[in-house]
Amino acid sequence: MQNTNSRSNRKKSADPAGSSRPRTSYQGHHARKNFGQNFLRDEQVISNIISLIAPTDDETVVEIGPGLGALTEPVCEIIKHLNVIELDRDLAERLRHHPFIRDQLTIYEKDALTVDFSELREPGRNLKVYGNLPYNISTPLLFHLLKYGNVISDMTFMLQKEVVDRLTAAPDSKDYGKLTVMAQYFARIMPCLVVPPEAFTPAPKVYSAVVKVIPHATLPYVAKDYDLLEQIVSSAFNQRRKTVHNSLGDYFTDEVFASLGIDPKARAENITIEQFVKLANTLAEQRGS
Ligand code: SAM
Repeated sequence: MQNTNSRSNRKKSADPAGSSRPRTSYQGHHARKNFGQNFLRDEQVISNIISLIAPTDDETVVEIGPGLGALTEPVCEIIKHLNVIELDRDLAERLRHHPFIRDQLTIYEKDALTVDFSELREPGRNLKVYGNLPYNISTPLLFHLLKYGNVISDMTFMLQKEVVDRLTAAPDSKDYGKLTVMAQYFARIMPCLVVPPEAFTPAPKVYSAVVKVIPHATLPYVAKDYDLLEQIVSSAFNQRRKTVHNSLGDYFTDEVFASLGIDPKARAENITIEQFVKLANTLAEQRGS
């Protein structure tokens, strides 16, 4: 993953003082903490993210949380039309009156968690979604979007680095957990860029990172009952230091583990997504569902 915390990047910061001191007001807007408002201001980081989004006029493009337009404006330099979803009434109003890009935007002033993304897809065009997501709702929002994996072809998101580490983890590591399994069930997730707090105003307390999320066109392993998969994965990781013989012993005998190639002494972090799906499907069969 590329690290953008370089001296040259800091020099390009839009803050004339070059300070990472948190400010509550930026470009005349009072940042709302409850809307997860940390506005991007580092031109080099913005340019790197735009390259990762790589918007084109051949696809339908949607930005979640355009805010003050840090990503919106450069994307509108590349493509003619952009859909944006912004919950903050004041920010949506600013975009409606934006001096240069207002005519290029379709603005949805609503909560992205309530948006039916299948309604945004246009026939014959791929749907691409991107955003510097509000951190307070980033995980539920990601799972909301993953539900539309059959209509969204490509997503690029800024998230807390700690969340990105968990989303992109491999088995046998400390970051591999329920979030990893449930997200990678739906999509290929690639870490792309680490972003330091001083790239934003106000500066968040933690590092951020950009990920590319490519929903699987066809799921590699299909759970017969997704809720059962979630239940088993939760039970295993809720007691992640225990062996699966102990944490999942209420569901499976050691013989079942052995028949699926799972060592009963393994822990949750050693179980692959394929094996979790096999366990869930075995349970579904046992229960006759
Ligand atoms: N894209 C801008 C940038 O990079 O500077 C702003 C990013 S800021 C981290 C998150 C943005 O998401 C804010 O504009 C905030 O108002 C908006 N937002 C927060 N919750 C939202 C929600 N539920 N639905 C849509 N937008 C939301």
